[in-house]
Amino acid sequence: MLKVVKFGGSSLADAKHFAQVRNIIESDSSRRCVVISAAGKRNRNDSKITDLLYLTQAHKTYGVSYEDIFSLIEQRCLEMRDELGLSFDLESEFSFLRSQVNNDIEVDYLVSRGEYLTAGLMSEYLGFDFIDASDCIFFSYDGKIDYEKTYQAIAQVAVKHPRFVIPGFYGALPNGRVHVMPRGGSDITGSIVANALDADIYENWTDVSGILMADPKVVQNPAPIPQITYDELRELSFMGASVLQEESILPVREKNIPLNIRNTNCPEDPGTMIMETIENDCGNGHLLTGIAGRKNFTILTVYQKHISTDTRIVRKTLELLEACRIEVQHITLGVDSFNVVMPTSEAGDRIYDIIADIKANLHPDGIKMCDNIALIASVGRRMVSVPGSSARLFGALGENSINIRMIAQGSEEISIIVGVDNKDFERTIRTLYEGFMDGEKKS
Ligand code: ASP
Repeated sequence: MLKVVKFGGSSLADAKHFAQVRNIIESDSSRRCVVISAAGKRNRNDSKITDLLYLTQAHKTYGVSYEDIFSLIEQRCLEMRDELGLSFDLESEFSFLRSQVNNDIEVDYLVSRGEYLTAGLMSEYLGFDFIDASDCIFFSYDGKIDYEKTYQAIAQVAVKHPRFVIPGFYGALPNGRVHVMPRGGSDITGSIVANALDADIYENWTDVSGILMADPKVVQNPAPIPQITYDELRELSFMGASVLQEESILPVREKNIPLNIRNTNCPEDPGTMIMETIENDCGNGHLLTGIAGRKNFTILTVYQKHISTDTRIVRKTLELLEACRIEVQHITLGVDSFNVVMPTSEAGDRIYDIIADIKANLHPDGIKMCDNIALIASVGRRMVSVPGSSARLFGALGENSINIRMIAQGSEEISIIVGVDNKDFERTIRTLYEGFMDGEKKS
């Protein structure tokens, strides 16, 4: 059994968290490959090491003294090392880094040092070998991960180093220079390592006990999601639930490796298990897996008689939007009209030019635009097979006098998306959540 374990910045914020991480790793001998993020915030007013490194670079760019910020990073690392009683030669590391910062350091190299140094400390603390990500995570010159080369390199590393720690978030370009991933990229590194080594499971340790059924800022004490499929997670993430770095799903999904989100502060909690398919699926008693949504969408409605028999106007409208690089979120088609839903920020003022263009060139029977729309997705893999799911959903909204402005169904019928006025956003989420949870308790 092999578990690849990734710890996020909040799990590495200070010596106390390092001790928790070591307990977690030592409690299970299959946790042999450890991916480490940069030390994160110790409290609400603190800063992540990665942010401080970006700030150092920004000060340098604008000719403002960066010494205070840089010293802050140095002090935090030294404090942590001393508190843990480690001997990692941070003095030399920082004196080299300082000389680089004073010269022509590349921003990617500088910000990658958060992961590099935190992983260096962790490898000594655990007694695991340190593997530099520059030696086995590879990018091509266009910044895309070179998966094949990377998988091979990691597999070779594992032969020589049965237990290792590797920094997340960065790797090397073909010329050897450090290149970083998008923010939160250590999730991707973890997933790549899990794929390369055919891990039995990829554990992603963070500061929450898994994914919740709804945003706790909107619903009081939402229930955790014990199991979710990759498809469901995509639907929820697409609608604004931020859980994992999006790209991190692909490598593990490709090999059907389950991804378990766990809480470093409550290691006994089972967290959320994300899988391709769920065997003996009873949905953990809930018809709904989760609810997520976002505000501020614009709906463009174009009217044309018998549109379903002549979809040219649909195609042309989409071409106009594409030419303006406006991201389209949903399209719904009726007999005599169709709706295109897009984020209002995307549409901007360009939407008025597009409307004028459609009117002048496509001569629709009518065209209407409406903004301040919120989209809310109710996601549940079991809805496909349980009759009455949508009746319950719409019934709950009707009983609470929530006016639905748009309805769409996601792929594989695992989600139902409703558009409501922005002002009804929170009330809709609460109504759906309570409607489903209460209904289940009663039935
Ligand atoms: N340290 C990086 C960030 O703050 C990468 C990561 O944490 O995964 O985004």
